[in-house]
Amino acid sequence: MTIRAKRARVSFRQREVVLDMHGRKCAYCGIDIIGKNYHIDHIVPFSKCEENDVYNLVPTCVSCNMIKKDKSLEEFRQIMCKKAGMKDYVFEFEKTNKVDVSVLSYYQAIYK
Ligand SMILES: [Zn+2]
Repeated sequence: MTIRAKRARVSFRQREVVLDMHGRKCAYCGIDIIGKNYHIDHIVPFSKCEENDVYNLVPTCVSCNMIKKDKSLEEFRQIMCKKAGMKDYVFEFEKTNKVDVSVLSYYQAIYK
């Protein structure tokens, strides 16, 4: 009998797919990802939805993911707005339409 660990397990193949989908850029701030210095983030936190769908996964730079952690996208956006001194902060994946918004809003609606 195996006990399923309650943590995200993102395979190497999934990582590569997600990196390629986003042009090897941080999906939040748009900085280029070089080498292994990146994280894979669950847009809707894994602790809430346990969903490893590639549309819920984005590559991020380390500093973005250290801020995002388990926050919702909107909580994270508010912090990024303050940091950038802007009224609104548009994430890189929103500019490039690299995330299927219908899948994302599905997860966001289910796992509040
Ligand atoms: Zn970033």
